[in-house]
This record gives sequence, structure tokens and C-alpha cells, in this order.
Amino acid sequence: MTGQQHPVEIDTSKPHTARMYDWYLGGKDNYPVDEAMGRQMLTLDPRVPVMARVNRAFMQRATRWLAGQGVRQFLDIGTGIPTEPNLHQVAQEIAPDARVVYCDNDPIVLAHAGALLRGTDEGVTEYLQADVRDPESILEGARKILDFDQPVALSLIALLHFISDEDGAHELVGRLLADLPSGSYLVVSHATSDFTPEESKAATEKLKAAGVTLALRSREEFTRLFAGLELVEPGVQVPHLWHPELGEPVPGQDDGVIPGYGAVGRKA
Ligand code: SAH
Repeated sequence: MTGQQHPVEIDTSKPHTARMYDWYLGGKDNYPVDEAMGRQMLTLDPRVPVMARVNRAFMQRATRWLAGQGVRQFLDIGTGIPTEPNLHQVAQEIAPDARVVYCDNDPIVLAHAGALLRGTDEGVTEYLQADVRDPESILEGARKILDFDQPVALSLIALLHFISDEDGAHELVGRLLADLPSGSYLVVSHATSDFTPEESKAATEKLKAAGVTLALRSREEFTRLFAGLELVEPGVQVPHLWHPELGEPVPGQDDGVIPGYGAVGRKA
């Protein structure tokens, strides 16, 4: 596809995760229904906007770390509405020739994909409209842009907590990784109910009533996403403690618990 804006159908009758996340980050690409649900989440945990920023900062540090390891190809699924700096900007600042394929299933991300496609002349950025529950179509699209004989960093940042076990969260990660060569990486951040079980349960129920799946996972379930991979240092961490030296601290990150995990694993 090209970098033009696309006419797409936006369903403003129920909240969408991409738009709620945009609201937490102070963006403008959200609707009253998203803000209303976002405010309900804030009554359960006022730190959700800090979590969103901490998560964004994790994505940036992990991408810097990977580019520093020599990774030049990125497949980012569940990209979200563009928020500067986007993954390709972080990667291409270090490696202007980096190739980045973005993928999301929300039409609002497609509508704004133009901002994701403004990369360096030496590099490539591309956008696929696809659902992570259909890994075959993502792999087919990504292969056209990325060389699957060279390492690829697969990033699933704040995505898998929207995919239930029934929808095969663990299996689809395995399927995506199966086609990537040795030296590839998996990057995941994920919300957890481990630290705030009651609030997490209430949030899950409220979202379910609005038609949004929230599949919070324990540390053990999160770690299992990396089955067969070598976790790189410092292993599974709350996101702001994963290589903090590679970025700036997020204001408020140390004021209370951030109920999530982040990690990077390498395929041997
Ligand atoms: N990765 C970004 C955005 C996280 S918000 C970041 O961390 O900053 C979660 C994103 O996942 C949203 O953009 C939402 O549209 C997308 N998403 C949710 N379910 C999806 C699915 N089944 N397939 C693809 N994308 C999905």
C-alpha cells in the first residue's frame, strides 16, 4: 500500500484498544466511547497512562538494543496508532537501512498508516492490515518485504493481553517464530494481574461487557511465550527495568507498581 490516507469504516459504537491506548497517551485519534472506557479504567488504576508511556519507552529501548545487536529487520504486530517516535524511527536512527513491517487489525491504524511509512530512503517501511490470529497471512505479507534468511525481530508489544488462550496466543507466537531464521528475536510486553488481582479482575469484566477481550497473564504464562528461546539479559522484568540505560526514565514510573512484564528472547 501507499502512504496515502485511506477511507475506512471506524466503529465508534464500542471502545477499541488502539483508540483507548491513544487516549491514555494524550493523542487525538480516539472517540467519546474510548475516552469513557479509558476513564473507567483510571478509576480502577490511575496509573494506566503511566503504564502506556512506560510500555512505549520499553518498545523504544528494546528496538535500540536490537539495532545495536545488528538486527536490521523488524516485524511489529499490534502497532497501534502512530505515536512519535515510532519503531521504524528508533531503528532507522541507528540503522538507516532497517526494514520494518507494521501490522494491525484496527481500521483506525490503517487510516493513519501514512505516518508509519515515512522512513529513510535507505530503509523500508510497510504496513499490513491483518489479524495476529491469522499468522499465515502476516507471514505471507512480511516475506514480500523482509528476507527470511536474515534475522528478524518479531515485536508483539502490548498486544498479546488482547488475545485469549482460546484464540491460541501461545501457538500463534510459535507459528510466527517457526518461519524466522536462527538469530531472530521475540520482543513482548504484556499486562499482568500478578500485582493487582482485584483491579485486574474488575478491568477484565468491564472490558468484556464492552466487547473487548483482556487476557492478563501471570509471570509463568508470560515466560512460556518464550518457550524454546534464550531470554537475553535481564530476562523477564517489569518493563521499565529492562535495560533502563538505553532511554530516559518515564515520569512517575517509580511511584508504584507497573503491572506488566517485558522481555526479549533469541532464537538459537
Ligand atoms: N504496540 C503498540 C500499541 C499497543 S495497543 C504499543 O505498544 O505502543 C494494542 C494494539 O494491538 C492496538 O493497535 C490494537 O488495534 C492491536 N490489536 C489488538 N488485537 C489485534 C489482533 N487480533 N490483530 C492485530 N492487532 C491487534
